[in-house]
Amino acid sequence: MDNRAVEKAVLQMQFSFEETERCEVRKPRFRSGRDSGWTARARLLCAQLSLPGLAEKVVVKWNGRMRSTAGRATWPDAVVELNPALLEISTSETERTFLHELAHLVAYERAGNRRIKPHGPEWRRACCHLGIPGERAGHNLPLPSRTMRRRWRYFCPECWAVIERVRRMENCSACYACCLKYNRGEYDERFRFVEKRIS
Ligand SMILES: [Zn+2]
Ligand SMILES: [Zn+2]
Repeated sequence: MDNRAVEKAVLQMQFSFEETERCEVRKPRFRSGRDSGWTARARLLCAQLSLPGLAEKVVVKWNGRMRSTAGRATWPDAVVELNPALLEISTSETERTFLHELAHLVAYERAGNRRIKPHGPEWRRACCHLGIPGERAGHNLPLPSRTMRRRWRYFCPECWAVIERVRRMENCSACYACCLKYNRGEYDERFRFVEKRIS
């Protein structure tokens, strides 16, 4: 293959956090690296679309360092990266982001050395084949806390910030402001939220 002709691409999808969503830092130890289940699904889908070459090399990974990026597709590496925060929003959003990113890889694989637009007709066609017709280029992920009643309250032991949430936080969630101030934005046990149930 002529390497010069291969178009390198990194396609990112952003999502906007509500103010309250940004207050939390999750301990990153869980879910980073390759996910064998999602990778197997990606491979099966590519095989079903008669793309054995892509089916052989595609890999799906979790990237716990992603902040405002929901998902990312890298070509020609054929890697799909997903933000583990998606799992807290919903499984259907995780699924949709996965298929959106996989569609990029399908479009590039089919295009070969031909140049294509990231969200052009080739990508839209791949979205149809992957079961997400009418998928848009950008994502505005719905955040359920807007409409649902908040049941959990969290206190930062350092700055006494108070956050209310609909869903219960993961065990290892810390105050973002304090982690940013004292620990470069990384998770820090000292600023772990203290939980209280409301109602
Ligand atoms: Zn995209
Ligand atoms: Zn704090």
